[in-house]
Amino acid sequence: MEQFEINRIRTQLINRRDRLNRAAVDQKTGIHYLTLLKEVDAALERIDSGTYGICEVCHDPIEEDRLIVNPLLCFCIDHLSDQQKRSLEEDLDLAQKIQKTMLPARNLETEGWDFNYHYEPAGAVSGDYCDVISEGPNTYFILGDVSGKGIAASMLMSQMHALFHSLIPLNLGINRLVGQINRLMCESNPSSHYATLLCIKAELSGRIEVCNAGHLPALLIKKNEQLKLDSTGIPVGLFCDADYSVNSLSVEKGDTFLLYTDGLTETFFDEEEYGVSRLSKVFFDNHKLSSRELTKVILNDVNKFIAGKSKKDDMTIMTVKKL
Ligand SMILES: [Zn+2]
Repeated sequence: MEQFEINRIRTQLINRRDRLNRAAVDQKTGIHYLTLLKEVDAALERIDSGTYGICEVCHDPIEEDRLIVNPLLCFCIDHLSDQQKRSLEEDLDLAQKIQKTMLPARNLETEGWDFNYHYEPAGAVSGDYCDVISEGPNTYFILGDVSGKGIAASMLMSQMHALFHSLIPLNLGINRLVGQINRLMCESNPSSHYATLLCIKAELSGRIEVCNAGHLPALLIKKNEQLKLDSTGIPVGLFCDADYSVNSLSVEKGDTFLLYTDGLTETFFDEEEYGVSRLSKVFFDNHKLSSRELTKVILNDVNKFIAGKSKKDDMTIMTVKKL
């Protein structure tokens, strides 16, 4: 764990200790507060002695995303008690259920557009953000990839979900929308946490605005020609004052977009990467299919490529077709 992250946790722990001290005096209930105080003091001692974040059983580092969520941990995931394991499983189960409710409804009305997606976490929860939001005559297709994996990444993903749903009705224009999300994420997260983001605003007429904040290029097949919609800015959550530019274009009936996260293109089999060029070919060869069929074909192709091996990263595929 990096020193600045440890310093941040230290400040947080001192703050918690003050609150616990005050609460213990106010409530006079003692025992529970005292146990918590002892745990906080012990964590501060571990920071000062340089043993913070090391498992007390095996002396390997404790998983960083777990420490960020609970800085009092002193065991790695392999060395939890049975009861701790059970409650961790319950937490993950609940987190997974919550995350599923944040995915776009399959039957969402998006007038003028046919969309489909495949969302596949590498573990219980994903750091990928996949959303489709209908606002008046416009539809927003959004894909994001939060740095890291697991619970910490999924928490940032849910924050992005909330921000997009609250800001889109304000009709800010897509560059200001992404700029605002960047600023809010910078202000509320440690700078080690950021996300790449691809946001498409699609109008009923076929006019499109694309803002790509450090994400992999979206692929577009426009009248049988394949185009790449490259990044137009840096990932969100890094620099408060970053600017985001927008590409505008218009599409016609049958034109098709493919959005994906690196869990798709950076899937490996032995030393070989699945890669963008392989993906481009499958996309091109099958772009006349419905978005649902197309998503299925791409998924089958990558599964065939890895031949039954498990994927190491969260993966999301989204296909969007102009009707
Ligand atoms: Zn351990």
